[in-house]
Amino acid sequence: MTWSQQSISMQPGDFDPTLNAPGAGTVTSGGQSLMPAVRGRLTPHAALDKLVWFKSGGPADWLFEPADLDDLTSFLGGLSEGTPVMAIGLGSNLIIRDGGVPGVVVRLGKAFASVEVRRDHIVECGGGAPGILVASTARDAGIAGLEFLRGIPGTVGGFVRMNGGAYGREVADILVDCDVVLADGNCVNIPVADLDYSYRHSRLPDGAIVVAARFRGTAGDPKAIGAEMDRIAAEREASQPLRSRTGGSTFKNPPGAKAWQLVDKAGCRGLIIGGAQVSEKHANFLINTGEATSADIEGLGEEVRRRVADKTGVALEWEIKRVGRP
Ligand SMILES: Cc1cc2nc3c(=O)[nH]c(=O)nc-3n(C[C@H](O)[C@H](O)[C@H](O)COP(=O)(O)OP(=O)(O)OC[C@H]3O[C@@H](n4cnc5c(N)ncnc54)[C@H](O)[C@@H]3O)c2cc1C
Repeated sequence: MTWSQQSISMQPGDFDPTLNAPGAGTVTSGGQSLMPAVRGRLTPHAALDKLVWFKSGGPADWLFEPADLDDLTSFLGGLSEGTPVMAIGLGSNLIIRDGGVPGVVVRLGKAFASVEVRRDHIVECGGGAPGILVASTARDAGIAGLEFLRGIPGTVGGFVRMNGGAYGREVADILVDCDVVLADGNCVNIPVADLDYSYRHSRLPDGAIVVAARFRGTAGDPKAIGAEMDRIAAEREASQPLRSRTGGSTFKNPPGAKAWQLVDKAGCRGLIIGGAQVSEKHANFLINTGEATSADIEGLGEEVRRRVADKTGVALEWEIKRVGRP
């Protein structure tokens, strides 16, 4: 596999509006699958609820777990044009709607989970590597600045797309560049500047799969880095419902305000719809208390938005990605 040396520059219109369209992307003809041959695992009608933190939602038309990069590029290159494609990481920021996800959901496995230390305090990671592995590899190599990834329970691909961040740092501060497979199977290298990062947002095109990323830190003392990671872990344990079926922060913090304070002000802490509840521990977290549907969870989020707008005049914006058919 050779990487294209070009960097792509993206326009707002690059996003694929068909991704969430009901009924979009039927990949069959006369009952016959038109899917390209693969070496990895390709599963029709694959349950996704087990793969996301909320433990709710419908199946993917297809779930593809590529054997390696060549498998991924040739599969995407061979897909019928217009087939919706999306990546899933650890599903820690996702509501999968109950009608399931049209087209293909790509999940990166072990072949994409490596983390290697390079020169100049650069850590090179596969798109499927979990944050805790990235942070602890950096710590062991005496590379500071990546500690915050310890506390975000996602993968490198999810961090790059979401501009994940915590404790005053975000991916935009440490990313050098990333390798991306576009929905048509082409590989490109995207430098951080082209992602046009803002708070929990990037301009990575829909359907693009981040397969690798390079993060830069600075020289540091492994003991001090480890102590900071422990502090982060303890603080999270104390303030977030980490052992619940949740999706992390539900709403973005509006400029100059904290979303959880607005949710509290509107009296929504503990609010219940069906099996979904606003966390008693952290008011910007929604929880599946057991048998919630994704409609319960999303409906609860919308009810919170309505009450916050009525009470405070602030229109909260979803941070959690909501995908699929209602
Ligand atoms: C308890 C808890 C605490 C959290 N704390 C924080 C926090 O402090 N800061 C923070 O920023 N977030 C936080 N989150 C949210 C979440 O962990 C992050 O948004 C994380 O970046 C999501 O990573 P993921 O791999 O699980 O992505 P997913 O949730 O699986 O997907 C999220 C989005 O990223 C896309 N995506 C996933 N993998 C790839 C890939 N390889 N290529 C391209 N796109 C991809 C998906 O298509 C989707 O659009 C928290 C979540 C939980 C449950």
